[in-house]
Amino acid sequence: MTIATQLRQKKTLERVEPPKLPTVDDVRKVVPAHCFVKDPIKSIRYLIQDYILIAALYLAVPYLERYFGVLGLFAWYWLMGFQLCALFVVGHDCGHGSFSDYTWLNDLCGHLAHAPIFAPYWPWQKSHRQHHQYTAHLDKDKGHPWVTKQDFDNRTLLEKYFAALPISGWFRWIPIYTVIGLPDGSHFWPWSKLFTTTEDRIKCVVSGALCAICAYVALSYFCEFSVYNWIKYYWIPLTFQGLMMVVITYLQHQDEDVEVYEHDEWNFVRGQTQTIDRTYGFGLDTVMHHITDGHVAHHFFFTKIPHYNLLDATEPIKKLLEPYKTTPYGYKSQTNYDFLFRYFTFNVTLDYLIHKSKGVLQYRVGVEKSRQQQ
Ligand SMILES: [Zn+2]
Ligand SMILES: [Zn+2]
Repeated sequence: MTIATQLRQKKTLERVEPPKLPTVDDVRKVVPAHCFVKDPIKSIRYLIQDYILIAALYLAVPYLERYFGVLGLFAWYWLMGFQLCALFVVGHDCGHGSFSDYTWLNDLCGHLAHAPIFAPYWPWQKSHRQHHQYTAHLDKDKGHPWVTKQDFDNRTLLEKYFAALPISGWFRWIPIYTVIGLPDGSHFWPWSKLFTTTEDRIKCVVSGALCAICAYVALSYFCEFSVYNWIKYYWIPLTFQGLMMVVITYLQHQDEDVEVYEHDEWNFVRGQTQTIDRTYGFGLDTVMHHITDGHVAHHFFFTKIPHYNLLDATEPIKKLLEPYKTTPYGYKSQTNYDFLFRYFTFNVTLDYLIHKSKGVLQYRVGVEKSRQQQ
């Protein structure tokens, strides 16, 4: 081992004192009061708007197929993927309680938004909350698990490289995450590790049954029991929505530069500053209710700011974090018209985390790049 390597290893074990960051209360004070107003009428309007747009896409598909053939159908799948994601975001607000102040209304509209797209509302509400409570926590963050070198070395070849196969993106939401339950537990099986109480299990059965009913209505009423049509017009669009779900949730938290913390170094604000706002462009941010470019604000106040106020809250947060822009704790944003390409390449290049200092990890490739620049 060279002296340089020894010195480097010693350095990674030393603790680096982070700067004093604003508290959540400091952040709350700079966000305009209107951002915290939940307007049930406005929220319902977005739900209806998304239904109408989905209905319009269904009305358009015969024409797209007639005039553009397979290409038209393929384009329709993408549009459906984005638009079904938009519907998901409305249900996501319901799950967080930022849709309205009425739990019954949130639960009702959450099921109306999620059941038709085969997303079990209450179980996902639970797994998603864990992601928000412990963002960038090495062990407790949920959704996309953080992988250390040791985890990576212990993985089978398939586990190591499955995500690197572009096609995997279409299956990582349904069935892998929600049905099979990798890694957080099945969202459909009442005795999976996701659930701990009888109430959780009953909720799992109810939400799961509503998904099954919607899938059956699609098969019986809309597809007149044609399994071919059901796959073509119901299931495949869901796989595109699933791909976009994975792309969005992955890219908001993964980059070469993000830091991930062991328990002793983690705190809520430090973790949330590792969230990244990404502008996808082409009008997609608006279509998907700014869950892409308003994600930092969403993470700071996930139970308090509805999607339609996220952008108004983003600017003041950006300003507040301005003094930290040369540190790892500044406001992070990127414009990524190449979001798909970025997702696919990150799944190859961001393989595992290594220590950057005591209790702080970063992707190997990011650490190596910054060492080369030193
Ligand atoms: Zn997130
Ligand atoms: Zn959320």
